[in-house]
Amino acid sequence: MPRIRVLDPSVIGKIRAGEVVDRPAAVAKELVENALDAGSTLISVHAASHPERLVRVQDDGLGMSREDALLALRRHATSKIESADDLASIRSLGFRGEALASIAEVSRLSLSTRSSDELTGTQVEALGGAVIQVSGVGRAVGTTVVVEDLFFNTPARLRFLKSREAEIRVLSRVVWNYALTYPRVHWKFSVEGREDTDLPEARDLVERWEVLYGRGPEDGSAEFDHEAAGVHVSGVLGAPEQARASRDHQTFAVNGRVVSSATLAAALRQGYGNLLPGDRYPLALVLIEIDPGQVDANVHPTKREVRFRDEARVFQVLRRAVEAAMRRYVPTGISFGDPGAVREPRGDLGYGGRAGDPSTVVTMPAPGTGTEILPASSLLLALDTAAVGGAADAREQERGDLEESLAEPEITIWQLHDRYLLAPIRGGMVIVDQHAAHERVLYEEARAHLFGGTGASQVLLFPRVVDLTPAEMDTLLLMEPHLRRLGYEASLFGERQVAVRGVPASIPEEAAIDSLKAVLASVDTLGEGGDPPEEHIAKSYACHAAVRSGQALSPVERRALVDRLFATSLPHGDPHGRPTYVRVSMEELDRRFGRR
Ligand code: ADP
Ligand code: MG
Repeated sequence: MPRIRVLDPSVIGKIRAGEVVDRPAAVAKELVENALDAGSTLISVHAASHPERLVRVQDDGLGMSREDALLALRRHATSKIESADDLASIRSLGFRGEALASIAEVSRLSLSTRSSDELTGTQVEALGGAVIQVSGVGRAVGTTVVVEDLFFNTPARLRFLKSREAEIRVLSRVVWNYALTYPRVHWKFSVEGREDTDLPEARDLVERWEVLYGRGPEDGSAEFDHEAAGVHVSGVLGAPEQARASRDHQTFAVNGRVVSSATLAAALRQGYGNLLPGDRYPLALVLIEIDPGQVDANVHPTKREVRFRDEARVFQVLRRAVEAAMRRYVPTGISFGDPGAVREPRGDLGYGGRAGDPSTVVTMPAPGTGTEILPASSLLLALDTAAVGGAADAREQERGDLEESLAEPEITIWQLHDRYLLAPIRGGMVIVDQHAAHERVLYEEARAHLFGGTGASQVLLFPRVVDLTPAEMDTLLLMEPHLRRLGYEASLFGERQVAVRGVPASIPEEAAIDSLKAVLASVDTLGEGGDPPEEHIAKSYACHAAVRSGQALSPVERRALVDRLFATSLPHGDPHGRPTYVRVSMEELDRRFGRR
């Protein structure tokens, strides 16, 4: 008795048919879901550099008998449901029995598989949906599906594809999301011409999260788990300051299926409350387990979207769970003065860099002294004494005063027109220019790395390919050692491209890529004003990586920025000599208001 049955037409009617495959990522998604349904422990995904030319998914799951292998390519053939009633209790990711058929119809598909009860495997070749060859094949138990020349017979679809880069990115996200959701599965992912990714089986969600995001509980990521009203929510939440400008790093899965859902996204966002400005999206992995009868996965033809029978209930449960998890970040934990308090705001401005790493500033070896460790201020002062001149002592004193009064717990720092930060200090207030301040912080950090120890790098799981002009390419070759010290890791990738595999840890990925391009493009001015290349790079890098004027900052980020500014050697000015903050005394205010 074959495991796969052809569905009754009445069931077919209940299943909204639709276009299942619209791009290579959809192929990967369907094949990965099938591999998961087959109980695989190792899933390996490979794509050609033009993923529509080849996507291959290999698994070590149950495999199929010869009979099943042939049925699998037929539309509405599935082993997963039998009747319409089963739709209400689906636990598997697939159930329509149309993915393989749909993919086969628009590609050259080869399926090779063996189940444990057969000694020889089966290989099926199909072209445009027609089976053209079936043969025996020796192979391990499991299944390999290779999809080549996608949309060869539907050129309109082919034209609809985005750039090679964009398609690879979407496909990578599919693998990323499933790898996060299924930590017990060993994943392999490779794209032609790029470094392979190997994610051996992880103990749990957090361990996989740490491997993928390069940060874990010490950086403020929080695991959560909560059950109410028949809805079980669990997962991992990134610290508020790690939030990103896009939703790309939010993964939602319902009963093991990666989905998108406006309801879940809104509940997550509301759970963070005012710990985040409106345009920031937290890193998150949210798993929902709920009675399958409460879920309609049929809304979207590719099952990308889900709808809950009781949307409000799921919303409530998730929002409350996130809110509860957020209590740990509420400001009592980040009081400035208490050395025992959580110091996470210090090292990170929350644009996605590694959170809280004050050590990169504090323990940098001094230039030329090898391993000697100096406190940050004396080291950085030593780097910049020429510019300080005789005013150094007085400024040191003022800085000390400011730091002390900013150390008051519970002070509020306001942001004015997304450009200036206002903070009360003893005897008055300071107004900080957020861009200039961040520029100073990054400039000193960059100099410390360029002249001292190499900076921490965050590894990008999926390297970013950057297009360069020939001139920029030359600059890159010239400056590579310096860029490496800043935390960049790039290698040539074709004649006009580099693959960036690592970026400085203290700034977000986007900003890091932008400033890399800016540094490379600024070659024309290199050497002007007699600056050594390190100096030139530090300035250009800081200027482009710094938070812009116009960027909203969360309360945590504001504190982090002010805190870090006053930890620099020269908090008063940016690298171009513009002031970073203005101090307004009570006397001056009193004078202006005619009080004295
Ligand atoms: P669905 O997943 O909705 O059932 P598909 O077209 O994706 O439909 O797959 C059809 C059938 O082929 C599945 O029900 C399953 O029995 C079988 N199948 C597909 N991929 C695999 C795999 N990797 N391992 C084992 N069986 C598979
Ligand atoms: Mg399927």
